[in-house]
Amino acid sequence: MKIIHISAECYPIAKVGGLADVVGALPKYQNTAKTTSQVVMPFYKNKYTQDHKFKILYEGHLEMGNDSLDFKVLIPENDHLGFELFLVDIPELLYKDYVYSENDTDRFLAFQIAALDWIIQDMQLPDIIHCHDHHTGLIPFMMSHVEQYKKLKNTPSIFTIHNAQYQGWFSHDKVDLIPRFPLSHIGLLDWDNCINPLATAIKCAWQVTTVSPSYMEELKLKANGLEDLINSESQKCCGILNGIDTEVWDPEKDGMIPAKYGISNCDPGKQVSKDWLCEKFELNPKKPLFVFIGRLVEEKGADLFYDVFDMALKDLDISILLLGSGNKTFEKRLSTLTKKYPKKYNAYIGYDEELSHKMYAGGDFLLMPSRVEPCGLNQMYSLRYGTIPIVNEIGGLKDTVLDISDGGFGFSHTDNTVEGIFNSIKRANQFYSNITKLKETRKVIMQIDHSWDASAKQYINLYKSLIQYS
Ligand code: ADP
Repeated sequence: MKIIHISAECYPIAKVGGLADVVGALPKYQNTAKTTSQVVMPFYKNKYTQDHKFKILYEGHLEMGNDSLDFKVLIPENDHLGFELFLVDIPELLYKDYVYSENDTDRFLAFQIAALDWIIQDMQLPDIIHCHDHHTGLIPFMMSHVEQYKKLKNTPSIFTIHNAQYQGWFSHDKVDLIPRFPLSHIGLLDWDNCINPLATAIKCAWQVTTVSPSYMEELKLKANGLEDLINSESQKCCGILNGIDTEVWDPEKDGMIPAKYGISNCDPGKQVSKDWLCEKFELNPKKPLFVFIGRLVEEKGADLFYDVFDMALKDLDISILLLGSGNKTFEKRLSTLTKKYPKKYNAYIGYDEELSHKMYAGGDFLLMPSRVEPCGLNQMYSLRYGTIPIVNEIGGLKDTVLDISDGGFGFSHTDNTVEGIFNSIKRANQFYSNITKLKETRKVIMQIDHSWDASAKQYINLYKSLIQYS
């Protein structure tokens, strides 16, 4: 079975968030289950593309409205990703030192057209095309309704919603950029008088998945305007929980942390990373360390952090370390807390993969009071590194973290307000003083299996069921 994943991100090539981790891991696990799973993504200007050499596999020419663009499909030489990688190079649009910007319509539309133009040239068409998030949301439509892609009409398309907040809306003025299709099908592109790639994908893909079962249920009630659509298409929608790449995220093998550790030596092992962090960020290694890693946006609850941290640092004898970037106001406010609480609080504003690994290892508790969390990977990484998660009970967090008071191993609340989050931190701080229980819990959570094995199989079963009808 040949599967092509199409995505804007893929770890380790280009990562902004969880989408990259999923697209960098799922194909690898699918390939161990004897499928040929490949990834197609844009060729950006970044560390990966500058550090590697590439072979040109295909040179093409695409039409987008009145524009004609040359493009290439490149493959890396000597890389061992566990899947074949194809990079679409459209220099004037995609070769930038960022993945996303304010004006991405032309960029990702050209990417989608180039990807399909190249796929239909191949002698061996894929059995499945698996698209991820709105940047690839017009592909299922184009496969079914655009004349030049009619070879793909009977190829099943599957679309995974990693985050329904972002939908890729653009104006009908730009409809001519999409390759020619019968005008009678224009309604498939429209949602609320806009062209909405996420809505189009939900309408046109053969199957729609979300990255956790609870998120699927939540989208029926709250989907940034797409609730009715999700409900009307619910017969072809299901939630499959993401896994984590246990080769990349393994404290026993992780070269990014100061000392590797396993279940048997997790307490001293974690302490080495904690000491490293506390020295670097001038915190007291004897106090419980609460960490946050993620995008500083409202979705992650970042608008509440200043007040929560202020309250917690004033009342409790704890340390907090934050790693993140996003909204400039939040970044600024959260930086000012360093002066107010020296030796108790610090923040690294920016993106740093290595530091994130050290924080998953050295933290005692991971804060994740997200308002929206389709799956969330951070809590699963933290579990694997023996760091106890504190979460809002929604989406994938609800599916993966059970509160300690219910016989579980984390702190989970439903009142995601400043007071509600503060109360969870307070409970966690009390828990920290029970050393026996703390040590026991670390060992339990490190053994929870969130590897991709089970989820990758679920996707393959889904593909098989679709191929039957193709
Ligand atoms: P989302 O995709 O919504 O941002 P996820 O929990 O699914 O959230 O995935 C976030 C991923 O991005 C994790 O691998 C996390 O460690 C990583 N990450 C987020 N922000 C940063 C940062 N500032 N530095 C390093 N890694 C980060």
